[in-house]
Amino acid sequence: MMDLHVHTTASDGAMHPMRILDEAALRDLSLVAITDHDTTEGLRAIAGTEWVGEEGGRAALLTIEGRYLRLLPGIEVSATHLGTGRGVHILGYGIDIGAPVLEEVLAPVRARRTHYAETIVHRLAEVGIRITWDEVLAQAGGSTAVYKTHILAALWEKGYVRSWSQAPNVFRRLFGPGGPGHVPETSLEVRLAIELILSAGGIPVVAHPGASGILDLLPQLVDWGIQGIEAHHPDHAPATADACERFGRERGIWITGGSDYHGGNGRYYKEVDGPLGGVPASTGLPARLPGARQPSLHF
Ligand SMILES: [Zn+2]
Ligand SMILES: [Zn+2]
Repeated sequence: MMDLHVHTTASDGAMHPMRILDEAALRDLSLVAITDHDTTEGLRAIAGTEWVGEEGGRAALLTIEGRYLRLLPGIEVSATHLGTGRGVHILGYGIDIGAPVLEEVLAPVRARRTHYAETIVHRLAEVGIRITWDEVLAQAGGSTAVYKTHILAALWEKGYVRSWSQAPNVFRRLFGPGGPGHVPETSLEVRLAIELILSAGGIPVVAHPGASGILDLLPQLVDWGIQGIEAHHPDHAPATADACERFGRERGIWITGGSDYHGGNGRYYKEVDGPLGGVPASTGLPARLPGARQPSLHF
């Protein structure tokens, strides 16, 4: 069992990367890919990791409480499809986490995200929802950017959210279109996001295309260099997963799945959060992908 889509406290997850690894070992996962939003900081925070592979770091074999766990370095880059203005998330696997180009391109992306969050806090204040920026920063803790999920956590602390079962509704009402905290965001252009992952030596995979509402863009994304599709995701109904699988098979690209794990303590953030390892990773890791981008996972 493996999990190819996991967030940590380096972005909007609730668990430190080291705790993720413990949890993965506890659940007897054979492989976990940490795929934080727009950062590889979480991967760098994993102590004593010896990355093995070509062209820098590609994968690591860890021993946790007597169990072997493979760690695949990943990322989830937020992108915008300029033609339609829609948000597209691009996962990158087997990246060199220290590739300078990643920080060059992504540091401004994270700064912009934090700026959006600050704008949201001001807008909420205008309608009488009073949380301070410092309170939000306290929730963001060690994250490399401030996310709406951190704003939601601050709202919880202030008693604006009474139960975590309400959280998804509150999230939609506040941040969705027409909500007081709705701030349209743009990010990297999709083609740039794909190129960024390729230049960091990674395999670009389109994340949850059904949940993002971008199924119609898939052929274009493949033309632009996408090499895989995340068919299995907690936000995908079986019919959506099937449609993604079919598309992946037709195009001969890697079909993946992941839990999009953000927490595990029940009070954090996402509407649908699969348990770690709880979503089939489908066809597994690519045995063969073009050229040098094939991750070396032979230990
Ligand atoms: Zn995503
Ligand atoms: Zn994600």
